[in-house]
Amino acid sequence: MANHDTPGPSRMPELAVEDEGFEYNLRPETLNEFIGQEKAKEQLRIHIEAAKRRGDALEHVLLVSPPGLGKTTLAKIIANEIKSDFKQAIGPIMEKLDLVSTLSNLTKGDVLFIDEIHRMKGYVQESLYPAMEDYQLDLAIGQGPASDVVQLSIAHFTLVGATTREGLLAGPFRDRFGIRIHLDYYEPADIQQSIRINSAKLNIEIEEEAEYALARRARGTMRIANKLLANVRDYAEVKGDGTLTLEVAEEALEFFGIDERGLDAQDYAYFRTIIEKFNGRAGLKALAVALSEDERTIAEVYEPYYIKEGLLTLTPGGRVATDAAYEYFDYPIGKQSSLFY
Ligand code: ADP
Repeated sequence: MANHDTPGPSRMPELAVEDEGFEYNLRPETLNEFIGQEKAKEQLRIHIEAAKRRGDALEHVLLVSPPGLGKTTLAKIIANEIKSDFKQAIGPIMEKLDLVSTLSNLTKGDVLFIDEIHRMKGYVQESLYPAMEDYQLDLAIGQGPASDVVQLSIAHFTLVGATTREGLLAGPFRDRFGIRIHLDYYEPADIQQSIRINSAKLNIEIEEEAEYALARRARGTMRIANKLLANVRDYAEVKGDGTLTLEVAEEALEFFGIDERGLDAQDYAYFRTIIEKFNGRAGLKALAVALSEDERTIAEVYEPYYIKEGLLTLTPGGRVATDAAYEYFDYPIGKQSSLFY
């Protein structure tokens, strides 16, 4: 990599893969179809089997991973495997009344999925505690001295919470999940397998070398692999006869500005900013302003992969671009700020 410029002409456009229909078709529906994450699957199989034998609802499950690794998919699989209904609530916008109506509409064994559970309001989280523990909801009736609290029984359900930031959950909340599962970034071989299966589902002809070329650039993330496949397929259809040979795949990846590590224009802008503007070290707020990007997106979507790749470290003094980042983006090493490093 011999320059500081973004690779290719532009950020990869968000194409059809964001479309719910496309994603839905590609979602594995059983634990056996869910690729990789062997430890997580084994853990779930054991708990599901034990709950079935006891005739109990499955314990509450907390799924933790960066975005796009399969938390929602796994939550739906859990409901399928225990033959229960899957219901979903949007955590961050939930108020206490929404929670009461959601919980009181559950039937025995239902799986209630709440994504981004760390973003639920604190007082709404707290009113979940008795529901998770004793299947009871405390409801305040009236106001002032005449007010009263009544307890409402709710069905034995399974809460499946998903979070990208386990550390932001209050301890007592986290402790109420009997099963906690971490999903790791996927190996290229797992992603290649998924690309092969999805190509077959979508009737895409693809060479094995092309599968691997895409898999290596998917940043260990299934959602990105699906998106790459959709984009590269479009390119192959318009520029060629639709067949994804290695040559066509590499040409398309270059066209979309994806480098050999799966980094794109946005990632290059991030490192150019932290290195050139901030001398290799910056706080999240400053970076967000400089990049005109949302702080949460930077911290939860982009940075976990940089950290995994050894390009970034988090220190008490801010985000620090590592020597490996200086080398990869072709800046002289040793020029970075040494404060706190
Ligand atoms: P998250 O909820 O963690 O953001 P999703 O469950 O929405 O991630 O996964 C994104 C997409 O990646 C899904 O539509 C699914 O097609 C695919 N996917 C995720 N995990 C797997 C897996 N283990 N095997 C196959 N496909 C997967």
